[in-house]
Amino acid sequence: MEKLTHLDNPQASCLTLLFCASFCKMVWYIRTVPSVLIDDVCQKFDDAVLKTFEGILACGLSSQNIKQVQLSTKFGGIGLRSSKDHAAAAYISSFSSVKTLAQTFLNSPILNPQLDSCLSSFNSKVPHEDRVSSLSDPLQQKILSSKIDRATSLQLSSECNVIDKARILCCSAPHASAWTKALPTSSNKFSNLEWVIAMKRWLGIPIFNKEHICVACHNQIMDIHGHHVAVWPVSGDRIKRHNALRDCFYEFCLNAAWGPIKEKPFLLPYSSERPADIFIPNFSAGKGLVVDFACTCPIQQN
Ligand SMILES: [Zn+2]
Repeated sequence: MEKLTHLDNPQASCLTLLFCASFCKMVWYIRTVPSVLIDDVCQKFDDAVLKTFEGILACGLSSQNIKQVQLSTKFGGIGLRSSKDHAAAAYISSFSSVKTLAQTFLNSPILNPQLDSCLSSFNSKVPHEDRVSSLSDPLQQKILSSKIDRATSLQLSSECNVIDKARILCCSAPHASAWTKALPTSSNKFSNLEWVIAMKRWLGIPIFNKEHICVACHNQIMDIHGHHVAVWPVSGDRIKRHNALRDCFYEFCLNAAWGPIKEKPFLLPYSSERPADIFIPNFSAGKGLVVDFACTCPIQQN
């Protein structure tokens, strides 16, 4: 795991850690060994995963950063799930799924003395309405883990200021996390600096040592998190981002042979204005589709 920090490609290192060397390595153990017997091992493994991620990012993580990193992407995280936090859920799910079949084979009820401690552990991590009291039906690990993530997400949100709340809310928007799982090939490849800055901004980690006057616009304060970059229009950056998004979608439509037209005039009667970025004729049911793009930032004030 430690060698991932020596790859000199943080995007590839993070993906390898995520898909090959983190939670997935522990799933078999936490589904087959009661959590109370494996907690210490899980803690050591989780610590090693976080240390590796810190090495890839070349930066330490705060307790809030760690909570976000360990959340699933659905809740704005990276998906480096904690094996310790999800161990009880994994064991409960595994046991509840095989209990009926095993009892049929054995022709007698199974008494599992470790189950109560696993249920107590799981229930201590979720709100009252999500607690599990019995194993009358099989319980899916995906659902139990999602309940833990939701509780962690609520706790994280309660600890954050309003800017970080907005940031995490946007991180959890559909498809917002796609870049974190993009393979480093062709146009999806980040430079090392791009990836590190993007990841730090995703997690709310400062990218500057102190506030200073912005060297681009020369009249605004650059905050340590670099939020100013995203909200202040200068050098046509916002237009460049808008056009890049538009062109990406245009290429997609071209590849599908939908005959897209950029900024088509006379869409509205008696007007040569171009209200749409892209027009797709006969998109569905005899009607065309008009698509317009806007670049906004979740933390801008207006
Ligand atoms: Zn500026």
